[in-house]
Amino acid sequence: MMADGIDALVVGAGVVGVTAALALQQRGLQVTLLEQSSVAAGCSFGNAGLIAPGAFPLSAQHRLADLPATFLKSSSPAALDWMSALRLLPWAIQYAKATRCDKVRRDTDLLHELCRHALRSYELLLGSDLPPICRRGYLTVHLSPSEVGKAAHFNSIRASLGLAVQMLVGPEIAELEPAMGGVAAGATLVQGAAHVTDPAAFVTSLADVFVRRGGTVCRDRVQALQSKQTGEVTVRGHLETYSPRTVVLTTGAHANQLLANCDHRIPLAAERGYHLELDVEPGFISRPTAIPGLGVVLTPSQRGARIAGISHFGLPGLRARPGLLLSALKRARKVLPALRARPGFEVWSGERPATPDSLPIIEQIPEHRSIFVSCGHGHLGLTLAAVSARVLADLVTGSSSDYSIQLSSRRFELN
Ligand SMILES: Cc1cc2nc3c(=O)[nH]c(=O)nc-3n(C[C@H](O)[C@H](O)[C@H](O)COP(=O)(O)OP(=O)(O)OC[C@H]3O[C@@H](n4cnc5c(N)ncnc54)[C@H](O)[C@@H]3O)c2cc1C
Repeated sequence: MMADGIDALVVGAGVVGVTAALALQQRGLQVTLLEQSSVAAGCSFGNAGLIAPGAFPLSAQHRLADLPATFLKSSSPAALDWMSALRLLPWAIQYAKATRCDKVRRDTDLLHELCRHALRSYELLLGSDLPPICRRGYLTVHLSPSEVGKAAHFNSIRASLGLAVQMLVGPEIAELEPAMGGVAAGATLVQGAAHVTDPAAFVTSLADVFVRRGGTVCRDRVQALQSKQTGEVTVRGHLETYSPRTVVLTTGAHANQLLANCDHRIPLAAERGYHLELDVEPGFISRPTAIPGLGVVLTPSQRGARIAGISHFGLPGLRARPGLLLSALKRARKVLPALRARPGFEVWSGERPATPDSLPIIEQIPEHRSIFVSCGHGHLGLTLAAVSARVLADLVTGSSSDYSIQLSSRRFELN
C-alpha cells in the first residue's frame, strides 16, 4: 500500500524527531511521524532531564591519548565495546582532530551558543502547550580541592561566554542540596539550567501536542529509502510504502543504516548511557546534580531520584553492560551511603548518538535533496532538540541559516 500526500515524513519519534515534526508543522507542512516502537522508546526515554544553558564538547575534557587507560580502568565511568574498536577508528581519528585547541575553542563557543537558545526555542515551538519545566539551575559537586581547581578553569570559560555561574562552599551547598552538604569540597551552580523529572512523559506530551495540531503518528519500521535524481523519494516501511515530498531521519544513533542507499555516511558512534531509580524520597535532591569524581549525575525523578551516567562507546546496537552503572553506584555509596537501587527496578540503558565533536549533524543529504537528517545530539538531545528543530525547519523550507554549514557533516571533511 502506498501512503501519499505527506509533505514531510519524520522517521524516529525521540525528542529530536518529535520537535522536528512540530517545527515543520509550524511552518505549514502536513507532517507524519513514523516510529518503529513507541514515542520516546529510544535514548530519549531515560536521560537525566537536564536542559543545559551551555555545554563543553567531550574533546574539551578528554584527550584521545588518555582514553585507552580510561577504558581499561575497572573503576572508570567510560568503557569501550572492544568488538567495535576497529570499525570506530575513523570516528576516533575525527575525535583526535576535535581535541586541537583552536577546534575545542570554536566547538565550545558554538555549543554554548546553541544551548543558550534551548529554553526559548521550546517556548517558541510549544507556546502555552509547553509541559512544566523546573527552572532551578544545575549543580556540579566537586569532591576534592583539585576538582575545585579544575572547575574554576571551566567556570571562567562559562562566565566569559555569558553564563551565570557561582562557586559554592560548605553551608551554601548544604542549604541548596542538603544531601550533598557533607561530601563536597565545593560546588558549581550553573543558573539558567532547567530540568524535567520524566523525560519520556515530556516527549510524549510534545507528541500529543503535535497530534492535537493536526499531525499523524504511525507505528512502522522503515527498512530502506530510495531516491531519484528528480528528488522523488520512496520510503519502504515494514507495513507500508510512503512517497512524501521530504523525508527527515531522526533515528538517533542508527541514522547511518537508512543512509546506506544514499552513499552517505555520518561519523556517528553509539555512546551507551545508563540510569537506575534510587530508593530515596522525592526532594532528596531538587535539581540535576553531577558528581564528576564519581562519573555520575543524580537527577530528580517522579519517584525520588535516578542515578545516571557512563559513557560506553561502540557501534550502534552494542550490547548493554548494566554492571557498569551498578559499579558506579557502589562507588557512589562510599560517599553517599543513602544511595540504593529502588526494589523492583532494573538498570535502563540507551544509545546516545555521538559525533566526534559533540555537535549535532543537521543537513540535506548531498545528491538526495528530498532527504534530511538531524542526529548526533550526544549528551544534549533534550537540551538541543527544539533548537535543532528550528535549524532543520529552516533547511527544509529553504530559508537561510547560519548553522547550515557549521552543523553539516561536511565539517569533518574540511578540518
Ligand atoms: C543516561 C543518559 C543521560 C542523558 N542525560 C541528558 C540530559 O540530561 N540532557 C540532555 O539534553 N540529554 C541527555 N542525554 C542525551 C539524550 O537523551 C539524547 O541525546 C537524545 O535522547 C537523542 O534523541 P534522538 O531523538 O536523537 O534519539 P532517540 O531517542 O534514540 O530516538 C530515535 C528513535 O528512532 C526510532 N527508530 C530508529 N530506527 C528506526 C527505523 N528504521 N524506523 C522507525 N523508527 C526508527 C527509535 O525507535 C527511536 O525511538 C542523556 C542520555 C543518556 C543515555
